[in-house]
Order: sequence, then C-alpha cells, then structure tokens
Amino acid sequence: DDKDVNPSTSHQNSILPSRGWDDISVYNAKKTQYAWFQAPDGNWELAKILSVSGTESLISYSEGKVLKVQSDSLLPANPEILDGVDDLMQLSYLSEPSVLYNLQYRYDRDLIYSKAGPVLVAINPFKNIPLYGNDYVEAYKRKAIDSPHVYAIADTAMREMIRDEVNQSIVISGESGAGKTETAKIAMQYLAAVRGGSGIEYEILKTNPILEGFGNAKTSRNDNSSRFGKLIEIHFSETGKISGASIQTFLLEKSRVVQCTEGERSYHSFYQLCAGASPSLREKLNLKSVHDYKYLQQSNCYTIPGVNDAEQFGIVMEALDVVHVSKEDQENLCAMLAAVLWLGNVTFAVVDNENHVEPVIDEALLSVAKLLGCEAEQLKLALSTRKMTVGKENIIQKLTLAQANDSRDALAKSIYSGLFDWLVEQINKSLSAGKRRTGRSISILDIYGFESFDVNSIEQFCINYANERLQQHFNRHLFKLEQEEYIQDGIHWAKVDFEDNQDCLSLFEKKPLGLLSLLDEESTFPNGTDLSFANKLKQHLKSNPCFRGERGKAFTVHHYAGEVTYDTTGFLEKNRDLLHLDSIQLLSSCKCKLPQIFASNMRSQPEKPVVGSVTKSGGMDSQKLSAMSKFKGQLFQLIKCLGNTRSHFIRCIKPNNTHSPGIYNQGLVLQQLKCCGVLEVVRISRSGFPTRMTHQKFARRYGFLLLDHVASRDPLSVSVAILQQFGILPEMYQVGYTKLFFRTGQIGKLEDTRNRT
Ligand code: ATP
Ligand code: MG
Repeated sequence: DDKDVNPSTSHQNSILPSRGWDDISVYNAKKTQYAWFQAPDGNWELAKILSVSGTESLISYSEGKVLKVQSDSLLPANPEILDGVDDLMQLSYLSEPSVLYNLQYRYDRDLIYSKAGPVLVAINPFKNIPLYGNDYVEAYKRKAIDSPHVYAIADTAMREMIRDEVNQSIVISGESGAGKTETAKIAMQYLAAVRGGSGIEYEILKTNPILEGFGNAKTSRNDNSSRFGKLIEIHFSETGKISGASIQTFLLEKSRVVQCTEGERSYHSFYQLCAGASPSLREKLNLKSVHDYKYLQQSNCYTIPGVNDAEQFGIVMEALDVVHVSKEDQENLCAMLAAVLWLGNVTFAVVDNENHVEPVIDEALLSVAKLLGCEAEQLKLALSTRKMTVGKENIIQKLTLAQANDSRDALAKSIYSGLFDWLVEQINKSLSAGKRRTGRSISILDIYGFESFDVNSIEQFCINYANERLQQHFNRHLFKLEQEEYIQDGIHWAKVDFEDNQDCLSLFEKKPLGLLSLLDEESTFPNGTDLSFANKLKQHLKSNPCFRGERGKAFTVHHYAGEVTYDTTGFLEKNRDLLHLDSIQLLSSCKCKLPQIFASNMRSQPEKPVVGSVTKSGGMDSQKLSAMSKFKGQLFQLIKCLGNTRSHFIRCIKPNNTHSPGIYNQGLVLQQLKCCGVLEVVRISRSGFPTRMTHQKFARRYGFLLLDHVASRDPLSVSVAILQQFGILPEMYQVGYTKLFFRTGQIGKLEDTRNRT
C-alpha cells in the first residue's frame, strides 16, 4: 500500500532545470547502476553504468554498445520495481525519459490509460482492446478495479456530483486522431449504462452518429476527424438518473464544404447520401454519384477503407428518427445536402465586355433552384449581382467570375452551416423536451487541441487561442484543488509556481491593442487587407514578449505549448464571414422551410452575425459580429460554464502518425505531453508538497528507524522525532491536521535508510 509514498530524488531544490525535473547536478551517477542516455538519434535509451571516473561515465546501451559520456548528461533511471506504475507521480525520478518509458511499458501491455496526478492520460491503441463493455462497467461501478480508465473518471464525476452537489465536467483534449471523440463516447456510454433507465440515454447516444455524419470528415490525420468542437451537458434528475442533455458546438469548419485537399474528404454526410439514398429519394433530389459533383471531385478521394457510407446513411437516418426529426424534415435535410452538391456544379459565363458573368442555366442551376424551392431567375440574380448602398443610393453591381465563384461558395457554406446548426437545435429540443431540470449535470468537452502546422491560418489561430484559455482553466483548476487540500488540512498556503499564460491571453484579448481587437478593427475598414492587418500588429505589438512580427504577412505568437507562426492570408475575409444580403433574401424567400430558417437565424439572433449593408469594397458593417467575436463569445461562455463545475481532465495522445497499433514514437509522445500540459502538471504537483502521508502511516513506516526512545507513542510525536533525527529542514515539510506534507525528494532519504535496514 505504498501508493502515496513518493520517494524522490535526494536534492532539496524545487526550482528545476527545464530539461527534466530533477536537478541533474546533484545526481550522483555512482549510486545508480542504470541511467537514461539520449542516443544520437534523439531517443532515450536505458544505459548501464560500467564505471565512473571524474566527471565521465562509461556506459553500455542497446545490446552492448559502449560509450564514454559526461555524467551530468545522464538522467537517473527508476528502480525496476517502478516499471509501469499506473500514476506517473509515483516515479522516484520524474524525468522525460522516465515518463516516456513508463507510458510505453504500459502501452506495450495494452494498458493505454495512466494517471499523471489528477489527469488521465489515454494513448490511442489504434486497435480494439478488451477494456470496455458490461463486465468492465460493472467492475468500475462496484470499484472492483482501480486501474486508470475513462470509466473511473466518469464514475468519480458522478459520485462527486451526487455527494457534493457540484456540477462536473470532463475536459478531453489532444491532437487530431488522438482519440478524443472515442473517449467522449466511452464516457457517455458509461454514464448511460450506470445512470440510464428512462430511455433518454439512448437518444443521447444516438446524437453521436448524427453529429459525426454532418460534422466529421476524413482528413490526412484522421479518417473520422471532428471538424467542430462539442460540449455536451448531460442532465440528471433528483434520483441521479439521466434526464436529458444539451449540446453546444463550436466553429464548424465551413471551408471544407467547398474545398478540400487531395486525399481528404468533405463531410461524411454527402457521401452517405449519395451512397445510401433510396431510388425514389434519388429521383426526387436528382441525385447523382459522388463522382459527378465538383465539390467532391477536387480531393480525388471518395471512400474510406473499412467504412460503408450507404450503411452509415441508414444509421444516421434511424438516429434522426430517435431524436424526433420527422421524415419530412429528414427529406428536407437531404434536399439541402443535394442543393449544396449541385451548387458546386454551377458554372458562369462572361456576358459583357467588362468581364461580368452570369450563371449558365443548366441542370446544376435548375436543380439547386428546385431543391431550395426558389425561382431559377432569382437564384441567377443572387449569384451574379450584389446590391449595395453607396451614400444614399442603392446600386446593383454585377460580378466578375472570381466574385461570382465566391458568392456561390459562400452560399454553399452558409447553407451547410445553417443545416448543421439547425440539426443541433432539433437535437437539443428532443433531448430537453418535457424534462425537468434539477441543475445537476456532467458536461463533456471534446475540442481540438493545440495545432501547429507548416502553414497556420485563422483556424489554427482560433483553436490555439481556445487552447490557451483552456490551459489557463486547467492550471487554475488543478492549482485550486491543491490549495483546497492544504487548507482542509490546516497547513500554510504554499506558494506553487506554475507557468501562468495570462500574458499570452492578454496579447489576444487586450483592448484596443490586442490581436482580436486589431483583427476586428481592420475587418471593418473597407480598405483593410491581410497585409495592412499584419503591419498594424507589428506596429502596435512589437514590444510584447509573446509576439514577434515576421517578414511579409506573418506573425508569431509564443504560446504555452510553443511558438506558432501565423500567415494572415485570408484572415480578414474569413473574419468578415460575409454572406451578402442578396443570398439571405434568396434563402428567406425559398419555399422549402429549412433555408428560411437559416436565413431568419442569420438576421435575428443576437449572437449570430447581423448582416446590414455591405460597404462598397466589402468592408464589414460595424453592426455585424465577426467570426472571431462570435467565437470569443462562445469561448467565454464555455469557460464560464466550466468554471462552475469541478473539472476532470483527460489528455489523449497519438503514439504514431500512421494510425498503427503497437508503434510508440517517443518524440511524438513527448511533444504531446508537453503541449497538453501533462509534464507541467506533474511538475506543479511536485513543486508544492506532493508527498503526503498520514501521521499514523508515517510513524508506522519509519518509527523503527528511531535511535532514541520517544516518550509519547502518539503518531505525531513519533513523526516529529523522525523528522528531527533525519535533519529534514522545516521548510521542506508541513504538519497538517491529519497528514504530513513533504516537498519532492524528502522521503527518499528515509526510504533509502529503511531499505538498507
Ligand atoms: P479529431 O480531432 O480529428 O476529431 P479525435 O481525437 O477525436 O480526432 P478519434 O476520432 O476519437 O480522434 O480517434 C481516431 C481513431 O483512433 C478512431 O477512429 C479509432 O480508430 C481510434 N481510437 C481512438 N480511441 C480508441 C480506443 N479507445 N480504442 C480503439 N481505437 C481507438
Ligand atoms: Mg474527434
């Protein structure tokens, strides 16, 4: 029962070198036979220390290679007995290689879940492992198993919600393909199995295939990549049973509807419809094969190995039945999908000598008009002209080919995102219908992690900003929990240093000279361009340590997870997120009811962009909410909502980039552990008083080492005598009501002596 014992390094310094957490200079290689050595390929390898002379050590590694190295380049290895411990906090030596090795040791044995203090680390197995299902649910429910698991996290959340009457949240993060969505589903399944009963849990689970169908796509990094963020709040009744749910989504990647790169796909829903629609539906929608639609042709990828789109179509439609979307609305939904596909096939022809264009009246244009329920002539006008107010005059401008293509794509994107929002709204109606709320809930957040690519655009800018906020929530939350434990046990508030990312957040949020304000300001200028935006940033932010201007249109932000350089190309246009009045009028006049709903949403809801007049050169009307402000609003709401809950964190890790089982790439794992703050949280936990033991246990464990007789046998007196005998400095420990709290490494000395005795 040594789990809460944390014999660590023998040094007494908690200000740790950046490389690992253990002060290497005090590490004496002579004492340990094994150490970590960074091989020329960058991987850490376990080395045997053959001899030590001066500052050098002779080591052998990797089947007999022998090398002389500087002793201080070695990091101490943990005793074998600690191989594969299920909480990284238990490791004596908490260096990068120790953590990597421990996680790999477990991964190789299909133990994909580990704890890092309060955080659950989940490494994607890329294969089915027998850790789920009824038997496991039962076992975790009865607490017959205590190894780390998503089930255990969900179970804890539920118990604490009931016991403390505090709402809970499970925050899942990780990069694309790391397993966030699967993990969220596993948590939902557990809650449904343990706290279901009314049948509503079945509806909740059925929202997954729907939202995945409409919001997921095949990308180069994940065949089923979520292109939106999702928060699902599961409500519980007084008796602790699931009583309903509500879903909020963030930032659907609209651009994918009209363009996607080679080898990727657009949203699953298009392929599912084309493959799965019945003959009568095909005829009604004039549906062709996926190969006939330009939007789908451009990436030259139509199928996903192992996925049957036709079958999926059936699953999604059945799920829509379950969440009470009527057959009629289902058909309307399909009609809108078909309209988007046909819209992509609309082409334009030059009609005058000023290069103005009009759509060609062909099968594509006629199909779109029919599917939307509008006149072909009306559609033609909306796609080839723009009404504008210049001064007091209303003028009609004809469009060039590039402008017309843009207006067509903008229409397609807004129909699709309108459709998605409408679906979420229907789901929410169904999940909350007639359900009485007690206010108790568990929210599950599945949101894209930190991203850094060769080229980073406004999407990465938004995502990384969100992660910066979530990281702050993570830091402050865990910090607060730690503080609570100290206070509960009556010890002095211990200052725990952690890297606060407030500076970086201020760079984004400061008014009027922060990244977001400057972006919005530049977007309202008719003459604003990506370049003028980039120049303004450089002008106003050059002295900010989190910011660096780059050549041309780029700038770099120093995020908590590393530096990212953003290319401002397209920032302004995407931020303005314009859908011209003509298109909105077109949609609101449609006979088909769904587009009308989208159009009215675009006008009336305060948190949605209110599109007023568009200035001549396409600047943004100041009344209209930009994409960024809208996102910022959502994000603040999210953080506020999480702030009112007790959060449980799951960090998903992708062990390789080839989606293969059994391959563990150290460098890749390490980089993710850093990005999602796992290493930091362990460091934070250890820089406070991470080792805690009750007075009784401490006295029992080390009492026999006492040299002098202690008058009182009371555990606290015995404990204090032990501390004195071993010369543990007063600043290295605190005595609480029930426990002793130690700084990292303090117990190591006692453990060593105990083991020698
Ligand atoms: P994105 O950010 O792109 O949405 P994600 O983190 O949500 O990525 P998932 O879609 O959950 O990633 O997982 C990617 C794939 O990894 C899954 O389709 C599945 O094949 C595999 N996978 C993830 N978790 C598990 C698991 N626990 N067991 C088996 N396979 C898994
Ligand atoms: Mg996902």
